[in-house]
Amino acid sequence: MPELPEVETIRRDLQGEVVNRKIKSVEVRNGRTVRRHPSAKQFRAQLEGRTITAINRAGKYILLVLDDGATLVVHLGMSGQLHRVKNVKEPKVPHTHAVITFTQGGQLRFVDPRTFGELFVSAPAEGERALPELAHLGFDPLEDIMSWEKFWVLLSSHKSGLKSLLMDQEFVAGIGNMYADEILFAAGLRYDRQSNSLSSQEVRRLYRSMVETLAEAVKRRGSSLGDDQYRDLFGEVGDYQDQHQAYDREGQACRRCRSTIVRVKSGGRSTFFCEHCQV
Ligand SMILES: [Zn+2]
Repeated sequence: MPELPEVETIRRDLQGEVVNRKIKSVEVRNGRTVRRHPSAKQFRAQLEGRTITAINRAGKYILLVLDDGATLVVHLGMSGQLHRVKNVKEPKVPHTHAVITFTQGGQLRFVDPRTFGELFVSAPAEGERALPELAHLGFDPLEDIMSWEKFWVLLSSHKSGLKSLLMDQEFVAGIGNMYADEILFAAGLRYDRQSNSLSSQEVRRLYRSMVETLAEAVKRRGSSLGDDQYRDLFGEVGDYQDQHQAYDREGQACRRCRSTIVRVKSGGRSTFFCEHCQV
């Protein structure tokens, strides 16, 4: 499932590829993709004729700002991908659910085998923050830089396991199962450590690990793992999976201490960690 580094990689690529392009037509091939709208026709009407002026990101949501102030919101869900296609005659891959054609310069296609992803337009008056999912997002770990003291205050105001807190989108936006495990490994902290039990040194280590892990993953264009491999705008896989220290490494040697990475299941998801390096 794409998390902040994958979504940020796509956002940056979109910036160079579709800003200032005018939307000529929109084709919806699977109504589930625009399920928030009363009809595909109503969705299309809000986009056709509009020009994209900027690309923003809120947590795991990609926001394409339009020249009338409305925003096209893209949520990739489990397996969603955006494909930039220069030649409109290029055959459509299976599960292509929506196609945006520009007046000049090809198409943007939304491909999503598992159909958990979606596209929707928020009207100008609403503003992106009026959307329920976006209104309550927590701070952005790459955009909203803060002092570790402030981070400590935020952490200690919650009493929950570190991993659940890192994945709580209302606490911090954009981190999911994969990067939570990587951040906690880098910080040397267990997933079930209570957020209000950390020493000042541990808080500093956690904050630094969070920022550095995500920034490095963006630099390496995200992680592609498993059946629903993440792909960038041009169909390429990411590069960061080779750097993973814990996630998806059950039974393999810890790269720091050579003991074995273990996997535990809790709350319907797997957590990978080193019992020796993480306390
Ligand atoms: Zn270890």
